[in-house]
Amino acid sequence: MTEYIYQLLRENIRKLKPYTSAREAYEGQDGILLDANENSYGSPLGNNYHRYPDPNQTLLKSKISAIKGIPTHHIFLGNGSDEAIDLLIRAFCEPGRDNILILPPTYGMYKALADINGVETRIVPLLPDFQPNLEGIADQTDDNSKLLFICSPNNPTGNSVHYEIVEILLNHFPGLVVIDEAFINYARQHSFIRELTTYPNLVVLQTLSKAWGLAGLRLGMAFAGEPIIQVLHNIKYPYNINAATLSLCLQALDQLELVNQNIRSTVSERQKLSDSLGKLPFVIRVFPSDANFLLVQTIQADQIYKHLITQGIVVRNKSKEPLCEGCLRITIGTPEQNDALIQSLQNYSQS
Ligand SMILES: *Cc1c(COP(=O)(O)O)cnc(C)c1O
Repeated sequence: MTEYIYQLLRENIRKLKPYTSAREAYEGQDGILLDANENSYGSPLGNNYHRYPDPNQTLLKSKISAIKGIPTHHIFLGNGSDEAIDLLIRAFCEPGRDNILILPPTYGMYKALADINGVETRIVPLLPDFQPNLEGIADQTDDNSKLLFICSPNNPTGNSVHYEIVEILLNHFPGLVVIDEAFINYARQHSFIRELTTYPNLVVLQTLSKAWGLAGLRLGMAFAGEPIIQVLHNIKYPYNINAATLSLCLQALDQLELVNQNIRSTVSERQKLSDSLGKLPFVIRVFPSDANFLLVQTIQADQIYKHLITQGIVVRNKSKEPLCEGCLRITIGTPEQNDALIQSLQNYSQS
């Protein structure tokens, strides 16, 4: 392992001797398998579900590797990207001593998982243009700052973080820079995945939950240099991706054309919805979005939110978050759903 990553790790993780599961020790499916105390009489559902799944997720990783154009040793798969976030905190942050940095308003799970792990979260709000505050980050960083989370495109603001700003942070932050690209397929800016060989401290998170439409299957991806991937592999639950998810995701990844079509539809609906929302009298502004949602600033967020609920339409009220005064976050729907939303909002303006 490179010395740099080794030094960042918690001491107990450095010393860890990983558990070896039965299926890791013997990788074949052939022979008489009496090594793992599985049910030799089979599963009520068939599909080989009586067998533990592949802890290395070899097939699924090869397919993702082919689609993303990066080698499998740069890929970690988790039970959602949330698992990767949790494991990064647990591998690198000593509770009560180390800290992570977040740039709110942003995804809530970074702080939630740091809190659960007893790790301090340092907060450096985004600037009014929703870009990182480089001076603020430098001020809050010390020798115990292990992870910097950058969400790009950012949830809930919808914008991408400028590529050059992320590069500055990759060059100067002493710990790992984790770029959460959950919404990258909807963005104009390209992924940081191609920079993995340039920056040993880079971790890119992606997910099948958004553009791939598979939130229910829970499949998250972390892309990083081999030493980081090895650590995540060593500390995960051996069978963190279940057999149903493995085989369904393999099937889904054959549907790239359909997924790309849905991405194009979402992006064109995003423009239409943004234009329609912008014309409503109580909308102050619709922020530009690189994601599958819009952040909309209104004069009466709470009332509009409640009105929509009475119409059976649920959006996210973000008006209590920093820099999001009066804001609702609205996921891009189908054309019919978006029409219904606009109709309901026009009724609100008349009431
Ligand atoms: C939806 C989302 C994720 C995805 O999490 P999963 O656990 O993979 O479903 C990650 N980060 C952000 C910012 C998100 O909005």
